[in-house]
Amino acid sequence: MTASASLFEKAQKLIPGGVNSPVRACRSVGCDPLFIASAAGSKMTTVEGREMIDYVMSWGPMLLGHGHPSVTAAIHAAVDWGASFGAPSPGEVALAEAVVDAVPGIEMVRMVNSGTEATMSAVRLARGYTGKSMIVKFEGCYHGHSDAFLAAAGSGLATFCIPGTPGVPADTVRHTLLAPYNDLEAVRTLFETRPDIACVIVEPVAGNMGLVPPAPGFLEGLRELTARYDALLIFDEVITGFRLAYGGAQAVYGIDPDLTCLGKIIGGGLPVGAYGGKRRIMERIAPCGDVYQAGTLSGNPLAMAAGLATLTQLKKADYAGLEARTTALSEELAAILRAKGVPVHLARAASLFTLFFCDGPVTNFDEAKKGDAALYAAFYNQMRDAGVLLAPSAYECAFTSFAHTDDDFARTLDAAKRVKF
Ligand SMILES: *Cc1c(COP(=O)(O)O)cnc(C)c1O
Repeated sequence: MTASASLFEKAQKLIPGGVNSPVRACRSVGCDPLFIASAAGSKMTTVEGREMIDYVMSWGPMLLGHGHPSVTAAIHAAVDWGASFGAPSPGEVALAEAVVDAVPGIEMVRMVNSGTEATMSAVRLARGYTGKSMIVKFEGCYHGHSDAFLAAAGSGLATFCIPGTPGVPADTVRHTLLAPYNDLEAVRTLFETRPDIACVIVEPVAGNMGLVPPAPGFLEGLRELTARYDALLIFDEVITGFRLAYGGAQAVYGIDPDLTCLGKIIGGGLPVGAYGGKRRIMERIAPCGDVYQAGTLSGNPLAMAAGLATLTQLKKADYAGLEARTTALSEELAAILRAKGVPVHLARAASLFTLFFCDGPVTNFDEAKKGDAALYAAFYNQMRDAGVLLAPSAYECAFTSFAHTDDDFARTLDAAKRVKF
């Protein structure tokens, strides 16, 4: 039995499914997870000592690569000063300043501990600010695991929601309206029929149904509709923030959202989220305003140090260069797979890409689900056997980082050439 297998056997007795987040169990690709002992640069090393080229990168945070020396040094320094104060500390001001400086739509920002907390809090603020209660989200967009977002499309009416999981009361999702991604007309219809919409929350480039870019005019249309109906536009940039560009997707697409949610990269690998936006809206948050939101560990000094060190490096990073290299890699991968006779639709943006095992186009969740999960599982397992770690689910992004080398990419392409379907 391998070390991973025996750890997994023990973990399954102690932790539900043996994991602390479901996708890590690798169930949808039909294998057991590898346990990781350490990571450096573009590689992770398993507990058996196998070195793997990593395209998950902790699901996005590690854009600089694992264990970037300046991030590691910042965490080491911070831990010597104290792990948590429960009182204001300089790192919070420094990271807030860096975020406000970077993200065009953010004038003030509040730190939290995860992307889930960021989206949950942003929606509460939007409801408090507008005095309205309904929220609009898009099918296939993921905004963390708080109740209001765990809504599934019911049968029949596009707007009829049912809970997406046991444990969420039907009453809770009654305030959530669903629309297909990239379907501006559906959103227009919702606004025309409901006077009580507080906000529209959207991943400006969707990254949780595989990568699905916004259609031309979609984000502009959402901005226009929300403004016209006095609702707030919330960009969930938990993946895209600091990844599509240093200023996030809003900088790339030139859209000015009312509120922005951040996470993943701004923690540099430590647990951080943040939400920010227009001063007049953010000033409604306690203690300057009446919308309550708090956190014992929010603004944690280790997390602030890791985040600030990460942003400091990213500010001078060559995003265009990484995008060009990621484009070349993903296009060659798609070509290799197509040459084997499997249908492949490649979606890509900056250092993100998804190979959908179906013919395109893929513009929404229904089309994303056409991707052949069995073909993906075969691809995933053979790549993993060859030392390349992809996301253990067909409907996720591959993430590259500034630490990935040309040699990593060449080895990845070699591994793909040997895959048999
Ligand atoms: C990962 C993610 C979240 C949730 O963040 P957690 O830190 O896992 O709570 C929210 N929104 C988007 C777009 C994400 O990708």
